[in-house]
Amino acid sequence: MSRSSIYGLTLDQLTEWLAERGHKKSRALLVWDWLYRKRVTDFSAMHDVNGECIQLLSEHFGILTMEEHLKQQSSDGTIKFLFRLYDGNLIETVLMRHKFGLSVCVTTQVGCNIGCSFCASGLLAKSRDLSAGEIVEQIMKVQLHLDQAGQSEKVSHIVVMGIGEPFDNFTNLINFIEIMKERKGLAIGPRHITVSTSGLVDKIVEFTDLQTQVNLAVSLHAPNNELRTRIMKINRAIPIEKLMNAIKYYIENTKRRITIEYILLKDVNDQKEHAIELADLIRDIAAYANVNLIPYNPVDEHSQYQRSERDTVSAFYDTLKKQGISCGVRLEHGTDIDAACGQLRSKQIKAEISS
Ligand code: SF4
Repeated sequence: MSRSSIYGLTLDQLTEWLAERGHKKSRALLVWDWLYRKRVTDFSAMHDVNGECIQLLSEHFGILTMEEHLKQQSSDGTIKFLFRLYDGNLIETVLMRHKFGLSVCVTTQVGCNIGCSFCASGLLAKSRDLSAGEIVEQIMKVQLHLDQAGQSEKVSHIVVMGIGEPFDNFTNLINFIEIMKERKGLAIGPRHITVSTSGLVDKIVEFTDLQTQVNLAVSLHAPNNELRTRIMKINRAIPIEKLMNAIKYYIENTKRRITIEYILLKDVNDQKEHAIELADLIRDIAAYANVNLIPYNPVDEHSQYQRSERDTVSAFYDTLKKQGISCGVRLEHGTDIDAACGQLRSKQIKAEISS
């Protein structure tokens, strides 16, 4: 299957595409309802849609274009899906269960060029961007899985934190968000969607100007340039000062809170002095910032990094709190499966190469 998925079209784009071919707006709405509310996976199941329109759609689009290759289920209900794309590439998508609902973490690129030194996903360079349809399809595949389980559960939250740098695939990301938000479809509220970036400052500004109402998280991971460059090579091109300016632009223009992601690496960036330096760095945006402390999930390929001791994590948290910084420690999901982002995919690829 190499035809693009119809999931890649926003409602406006679908309406326009059909209008150009002589079909009225109400027909686009019908199709949209079949796709996102009734969730059929075959155009021929859209019984009340005009036959000519069905034929036209089938000739130009697919609905599902990827296959479930592997699924790992954790005892806490987390499910990690490995999907095979039409061109053979593998991507990861994760369903997590929280008290507040079901969230899905989506992938935006095949591989990643940012090259964070701790990351299993970044081990494999980007080979291509995912289309908007492929990003939407991850949500739909998970939703279809839930539908089949028959418990009327719905994906309620989305985090764009899987493999890839979402802002390096900007247009497709924005279309994806629009499709997810569409009230006549899945209607996932923008405040239930979070996009995480490694800090592409031009795109942070562009994203701010779009006023999507979607949450933004920025991966900082270090309180100074020397350390951040060691951990994230992108810091060489975009140092912390530029990143902080973009964050301030976001806050000033959206009046929204921002999440600062900070992965704790044992004896690298997890000491008390790092917490104090971090608090100083973000002091003037503290009213709008929440620091998310992430205990590291070790991966074989990055043996230089270990997980911080529990007491060290607590001490880091306490230090930030004492400095007046709002913070929390990320709850872990799927610790009994390949928990680190990209870990399942890289294992699978290695297995395929060596077999
Ligand atoms: S952490 Fe994110 S941005 Fe960094 S290499 Fe991994 S996938 Fe890319």
